[in-house]
Amino acid sequence: RLFLQRIQALDPQLNSFITVSDELALQQAKAADLAIANGDSSSLTGIPIAHKDLFCTQGTLTTCGSKMLNNFVPPYESTVTQRLQQAGAVMLGKTNMDEFAMGSSNENSHFGAVKNPWDVNKVPGGSSGGSAAAVAAGLTVAATGTDTGGSIRQPASFCGITGLKPTYGRISRFGMIAYASSLDQGGPMAKSAEDCAHLMQAMAGFDDKDSTSSETPKEDYLANLNAPLAGLKIGLPKEYFGEGLDAKVADTIMAAVKEFEKLGATVKEVSLPNLQLSIPAYYVIAPSEASSNLSRFDGVRFGHRCDDPKDLLDMYTRSRAEGFGTEVQKRIMVGTYALSEGYYDAYYLKAQKIRRLIKEDFVNALNEVDVIMGPVAPTTAFELGSKTNDPVAMYLEDIYTLSVNLAGIPAMSVPAGFVDNMPVGLQIMGNYFAEAKLLNIAHQYQ
Ligand code: GLN
Repeated sequence: RLFLQRIQALDPQLNSFITVSDELALQQAKAADLAIANGDSSSLTGIPIAHKDLFCTQGTLTTCGSKMLNNFVPPYESTVTQRLQQAGAVMLGKTNMDEFAMGSSNENSHFGAVKNPWDVNKVPGGSSGGSAAAVAAGLTVAATGTDTGGSIRQPASFCGITGLKPTYGRISRFGMIAYASSLDQGGPMAKSAEDCAHLMQAMAGFDDKDSTSSETPKEDYLANLNAPLAGLKIGLPKEYFGEGLDAKVADTIMAAVKEFEKLGATVKEVSLPNLQLSIPAYYVIAPSEASSNLSRFDGVRFGHRCDDPKDLLDMYTRSRAEGFGTEVQKRIMVGTYALSEGYYDAYYLKAQKIRRLIKEDFVNALNEVDVIMGPVAPTTAFELGSKTNDPVAMYLEDIYTLSVNLAGIPAMSVPAGFVDNMPVGLQIMGNYFAEAKLLNIAHQYQ
């Protein structure tokens, strides 16, 4: 009730929720009370949580931030939300997001921009901006997010919370509305690494409903939170501290790194030479996969259908023109072009080759060190509207996050301090399936 009241009082300013599911939440809270009374509870029993509005929730509107799905009530439940529900978490509602998770500022939502709780004239980051703002403002204890190119880490950084993008395949994508299937990964967003670890206990693990789900057994994410960091080898990629990085953000990150040295870690320079290529590679691969994934929204099976179609083609074209926003249409066109005959080798195949090089960069660096640290984003949260007419400036915001998804490794954003009263996130990147290690490192720092 406290959280529902806070949402009612404060969310009109922030716009972090698309749907608040009061009745369901109270019902689930009652069930949690009963479970606790019966001694049948987990650490998540009765804990309020909000879900990014691209996790299908049976019986609860799931829009993906789009007009296309503004009437879509899924007949089934995503694995992530189901597992959290089974662990006893109470769903407060569904959070705002960039349409189809395409964006870095949450300004691409059909349901309006989300405001950053630290300064309502600034963006919360995207695309999981609603989840980040809701956690930061204390409208929920925790939230789910998804990260295709930074969408958990960058909003976590901008809103001063903790977020984890797990290894690709660690968390089931079943029931998660797809953006770019080879990059998409769900993960926890909360105030601390410890809270994220509690969520991971329920969210992670093999799922036979997702063919890319990993059979590598999940770890106990709580067991080693308190392991000492003495001897930890940290790599600082020189490319992460070059041109474009705000000097005060760089200072904040270096101050955080010093703290790790005090905790017994050693620091050395490493190199990720293909960093600059991550933006062009990502912005070919992600739109290509999106153009294919979003072909299912044709006005026949899901969501929006135009009025009075003349014929079938008219229905397809008008339903899609009316249902998708500008950024989504732009990416469908880019992706369709890149995949078309005669261009496939020049764009998509080339981008896949670069992807391999980026992955090898990480493998080489992680042979020398245990984890890699750097900034999450080149700046703190920017003013609403300041980049909406400049796609290149917007895409450059993703420079430090995209390559992690291209490689498939896990990474976190951990609050590291403030620049001009706005939060700065430290990024910690680790080897495949090293989520427990990342959470341990973040917990020791926090
Ligand atoms: N900002 C990136 C994009 O617009 C990443 C988004 C995401 O991770 N979903 O594609």
